[in-house]
Amino acid sequence: MRICRFTTGEDPMFGLVDGAGAKIAEITGDPLYTKIELTGATHLVDEVRLLAPVIPRSKVIGIGKNFADHIAEMGGEAPEEPLVFLMPNTSIAGPDDPVIMPNFTTEVSYEAELAVVIGRLCKDVKAEEAASVIFGYTAANDVTARDLQRGDGQWARAKGMDTFNPLGPWIETDLDVSDLRVISRVDGETRQDGSTADLIFGIGELIEYVSAAFTLLPGDVILTGTPAGVGAVASGSRVEIEVEGIGSFSNPFVSASND
Ligand code: MG
Repeated sequence: MRICRFTTGEDPMFGLVDGAGAKIAEITGDPLYTKIELTGATHLVDEVRLLAPVIPRSKVIGIGKNFADHIAEMGGEAPEEPLVFLMPNTSIAGPDDPVIMPNFTTEVSYEAELAVVIGRLCKDVKAEEAASVIFGYTAANDVTARDLQRGDGQWARAKGMDTFNPLGPWIETDLDVSDLRVISRVDGETRQDGSTADLIFGIGELIEYVSAAFTLLPGDVILTGTPAGVGAVASGSRVEIEVEGIGSFSNPFVSASND
């Protein structure tokens, strides 16, 4: 099942997207909390505005250095345990929303990632039981101000600024994520093309590690790390993120005005 969040100009609603990604069947309420019931109304995807498929109730959890080829390009060592960081829910953006690059950074990069959406309140989840707490998967751009990441000593600003977590185009609830391509394109040119088969720490391990530290709430999002090919984006560029089996979305990157 594919669950999107969208607006026709009125209040945001949720809907089920068909296999072709063309049509939306409206549903009542929020599928993270209520049973899915169709309203009977339908829309064409092209005629609505897709929104971030989830606004995390509490947090976005990032995982750094989870692909060997990305670690190599950054010049670091592979971590012995998952490298965990937190981002506020105010960093979320949706498909087509502008990613705003503040004037105190001059090096903003894209990072294509598979994102896990948590479905229920949980703590101390074992890797073997991780599937029972996963609502579904979406695609993410873990936008990073690389200069602030180097200079700040920790990653809160670099990773967590407003609009730095575009998610979309929808949540796929039935997906084998063991070997999916994770792709980014800048102005149509492929920059990253990795596979979730190459994650150093897999989804189950990540959920076990993260939930040992934090209670997870419905709608919390875990980003799973990015493959090689990251790079700085010029203002005016459009960055597309695609995860095989989910879909793709893109965002324009724009510099904040200086006034
Ligand atoms: Mg990342």
